[in-house]
Amino acid sequence: MNQSIEFHYTTTQRGSPAIQIGTDLYRVQKKNINGSIRYTCTNERCNASLTIFENKIQIMRGTHKHGQRLLPFHIGEIVNEFRQAIVSDIRTPLPQIYDKFAKKFLREYGSAAEMLMFRQVRATGYRVRTKALPPCPKKQDIATFHIPDVFRLNLSHEPFLIHDSANPYRIIVFASKSSLNHLASCSAIHSDRTFFMAPRYFKQAYIIHGWRANTDLASEVREKNVEKMIADLIALPMVPKHVVRQRFDLISQQLRSINPLFNSFLMYFRRTHFTTKPNIWLWIMLIKDFDETTTIAIEQEEHQQRQTRLRHRKNIQRDQDLFELKQKLEKQHIDIEGYCILLRHFSYTYMKQLDA
Ligand SMILES: [Zn+2]
Repeated sequence: MNQSIEFHYTTTQRGSPAIQIGTDLYRVQKKNINGSIRYTCTNERCNASLTIFENKIQIMRGTHKHGQRLLPFHIGEIVNEFRQAIVSDIRTPLPQIYDKFAKKFLREYGSAAEMLMFRQVRATGYRVRTKALPPCPKKQDIATFHIPDVFRLNLSHEPFLIHDSANPYRIIVFASKSSLNHLASCSAIHSDRTFFMAPRYFKQAYIIHGWRANTDLASEVREKNVEKMIADLIALPMVPKHVVRQRFDLISQQLRSINPLFNSFLMYFRRTHFTTKPNIWLWIMLIKDFDETTTIAIEQEEHQQRQTRLRHRKNIQRDQDLFELKQKLEKQHIDIEGYCILLRHFSYTYMKQLDA
């Protein structure tokens, strides 16, 4: 009887043996002399129970008087793996870990409804990770607390903590060498002094930004409609509190639809203006994230510009060669046959470029 019902051996939160069927969890109620085991639903007010004998469900009794208790087994499994990864690898930013698991999940299951369930666990990741962090310094320890090595290096394992003093106040400065180099090449430098975003028991977080002219975004920002949205963002603190988030989401959507590159700016804005007095360890991890994404973005951009310059130089050279070839024909150094053959080589290179 009921042999076709699929169940999985697992444990309760406290680690005692249990089985899962669908989204319900059963704990052991009684072991019978004949070797069969009676399980009962872990919901206290529920009387659903079943008996398993030789790894097969023999009897099922009662009906569940509650909603879904657990994630379906296969989702729960991958969620556990995700949580394991979060705490065993605290150097990797959460979104990166999440994306890896989301991709895996999508490959293996991936119905929209299941994906939605998996997406819901994303938010719990931050809580899981907080538990794996060093204890948050207390107010009286602010001048003396130690910063572990993990938090002194950036994600590329380069020195990131560049200053730490406590006389008369604790001042901690983070920057990677590559980001300082990029900053030095910027045409303008801005600073953002925030009080709310400063880690708990710190007065202020002082963030230095570099302005890179001649980028796609820099020219985009001068467009009238983008200018208007940026102005709306700046005005957010004056908007009634209960609509701030809603307005921010709306503006974000519009900016992203104009240029997806606005995404990292919006992420910065959201993570620095909507969190108050964060845990210092999470805060350091956040700025490590920024350090990494900024460096990657700048390197990509510079790579692109190099490519453009390279193409540009090649084009000038080709124009020059074509011009000289035509002169050879005009001065009758070559005949029309020879001219056409040489001309064909140019056509080939153009065709190759079109293919690419
Ligand atoms: Zn039940």
